[in-house]
Amino acid sequence: MNNSLNQPKKRRIGLMGGTFDPIHHGHLVAAEEARYQFGMEKVIFIPAGKPPHKTRRDISLPGHRLEMTKRAISSNPHFTISDLEIKREGLSYTIDTVRAMKEVYVGWEIYFITGSDAVLEILTWKNVEGLLEECFFVAATRPGFQLGSVNHLPKGAMAKIKTIEVPALAISSTDIRHRVREGRPIKYLLPEAVEKFIFRKKLYQQ
Ligand code: ATP
Ligand code: MG
Repeated sequence: MNNSLNQPKKRRIGLMGGTFDPIHHGHLVAAEEARYQFGMEKVIFIPAGKPPHKTRRDISLPGHRLEMTKRAISSNPHFTISDLEIKREGLSYTIDTVRAMKEVYVGWEIYFITGSDAVLEILTWKNVEGLLEECFFVAATRPGFQLGSVNHLPKGAMAKIKTIEVPALAISSTDIRHRVREGRPIKYLLPEAVEKFIFRKKLYQQ
């Protein structure tokens, strides 16, 4: 008899990490689609403290990125936010975040939600094989785009990377920052409450 039939289904939680400078509809659509497709009870947005891979430009204050993220998720009862990475000293590594969450959500399955660009990037992260033992990855791709397999990863590890298709993929924080600086519109690319905050605090003006 198949043992797994006797096991209760594990509860699932999604983690959506990012710089969120600013958060936009691409992030929100990807998180909601992942939540729906994998039956996650909630998705925790985790703004990064000091992202190890982003060093070239000044990143907005953590408090501002937290506030924009709070505003962006407020209308979704399944979305919540954690300041764990922002509070942590030094660089933020996803493996540390996932392990910290596992201590809180004991026995749950953890799904780390990313864009497909970021999933390819994680292969350069510290301890990627350990990471794939700890959690699943959900990579948001454009409709019709296949992630393909990643050469140096064992098959078992590839099985922990799931892909979903999301329609809002052309939106990026970089483009939004450029638009603000150049006086072009950002309306409808991100929630109105985030847009208002950006203009009130005069973010991304230079
Ligand atoms: P930047 O342009 O500054 O790199 P970004 O728009 O990529 O910003 P991040 O905060 O770097 O936003 O991204 C956080 C996560 O969200 C990453 O996993 C990234 O791949 C994913 N992501 C970013 N934009 C989209 C999008 N439009 N659709 C789906 N996922 C996205
Ligand atoms: Mg990015």
